[in-house]
Amino acid sequence: MGLQVHQFACLADNYGFLLHDEATKSTAVIDTPEVGPINAALASRGWALTHILNTHHHFDHAGGNEALKQQWGAMVVGAANDAARIPGIDVRVSDGEQFQFGSAAAQVLEVPGHTTGHIAYYFADSGIAFVGDTLFALGCGRLFEGSPSDMWTSLNKLMALPDDTVVYCAHEYTQANANFALSVEPNNAALVARVAEIAELRSRGEPTVPTTIGKEKATNPFLRPTSADLQQTIGLVGADAVAVFAETRRRKDNF
Ligand code: ZN
Ligand code: FE
Repeated sequence: MGLQVHQFACLADNYGFLLHDEATKSTAVIDTPEVGPINAALASRGWALTHILNTHHHFDHAGGNEALKQQWGAMVVGAANDAARIPGIDVRVSDGEQFQFGSAAAQVLEVPGHTTGHIAYYFADSGIAFVGDTLFALGCGRLFEGSPSDMWTSLNKLMALPDDTVVYCAHEYTQANANFALSVEPNNAALVARVAEIAELRSRGEPTVPTTIGKEKATNPFLRPTSADLQQTIGLVGADAVAVFAETRRRKDNF
């Protein structure tokens, strides 16, 4: 039996994720947006917290570290190059490193751009990835600390994962992202179809997360700087990928 994921809502629009390895009874929380809902989720499954896997230092991702570490004695894992900003960090991980979680191995991917020390966790055997605020359904994280080139390199690392990789993003931003995506790539039929599905899901209050790498490559404008439709809309026909990505991100910031 592989890893089990339990997804739940936190704060205004965050998702929390518990990751459980039945073989060793290990349970991780991916980031610590809000202590109350995390403890409620643990209680609902009867799981005891053993690990905190941080993607980055923002308060809605690491704000519950200290309280949960104190309560459960959980081991805090985070980016070695951002250790000073990860409260309670015990294990410092870097790009390409394997981190052993129970009987499963996570590959650490450094994906700077949203913050300089942002990392993602890829569990190849289970085909799942936790990407924090780097990649969203139809969107990507704001560039608070990195350059467009940094973020484009990071997104390429995620795009290199198998298409059927299940991607857990940290926020439900999809409806707003969908409106923007349609505005810059109006002739993408796969996008038009997906936006209809999203509207349907959201009208029932259902999550649009997780997504997959394949779906994002087909519909997410931030992964599609080579799209002729996108290039035309933003007036950068034939420009290089970083330039198109940068302009797409800039337009989203002002959308
Ligand atoms: Zn963030
Ligand atoms: Fe966030």
